[in-house]
Amino acid sequence: MTDETNVLEARDVTVRFNGQMVLRGFSMSLKAGRKAVLTGPSGCGKSTVLRCLLGFVTPESGTVLIDDTPLTAETVWNLRRRVAYVGQEPDLGGGVVREVLERPFHYRANASLRSNLQRAPEFLETFGLAPSLLDKEAGDLSGGEKQRVALVSALLLDRRIFLLDEITSALDPASKGAVAEYFRRRENVTVLFVAHDAERFSFADQVLSLRGPA
Ligand code: ADP
Ligand code: MG
Repeated sequence: MTDETNVLEARDVTVRFNGQMVLRGFSMSLKAGRKAVLTGPSGCGKSTVLRCLLGFVTPESGTVLIDDTPLTAETVWNLRRRVAYVGQEPDLGGGVVREVLERPFHYRANASLRSNLQRAPEFLETFGLAPSLLDKEAGDLSGGEKQRVALVSALLLDRRIFLLDEITSALDPASKGAVAEYFRRRENVTVLFVAHDAERFSFADQVLSLRGPA
């Protein structure tokens, strides 16, 4: 990888669901370590952009590239492993938070990173959560607690690329600030934030405004 590599790129991506155009010729590119905020009204296609970048949605036309490699049926599994994704309303599954955080390490691909689990209490505290949360039932957490646990889970996997879908929407201002500050300091990771309050991420290198296809 060189300084010129586009870590995340969408080229002229068009997506239609049931005949209805959701993205029309959407393009973006982000180099290593850069941060972008994707903003726009509800329903304009922000989450769809993230799902295209992950290969969960296949565009009708256009190309998605990760590390300058086009996302295809052959490359998607390898490329997706480079990306940490936190969805808008994270489903943590059952069990206590400690089990939720351990679950990704049951996969062979992540097993070598298992020692990262030691950092869970530190990450929780960074985002304003007490380490005692580890023993709480995930299903009993508030929306904002779930968002931060999902973020901690993504961080423990130590990936270089983050796709973060409105992950601060249910947080109080102090916790929002802590999340923004954390990523501001992570110079080497490439991040695409979806956010309504783009000003929260004023350190971002790019603001991408989506208006919908009309
Ligand atoms: P945003 O994240 O900006 O609020 P989304 O990307 O979630 O918007 O959705 C954009 C539009 O696409 C919405 O009208 C939504 O209802 C529609 N949409 C999203 N996903 C699907 C899907 N899997 N099938 C059909 N319509 C969808
Ligand atoms: Mg959305």
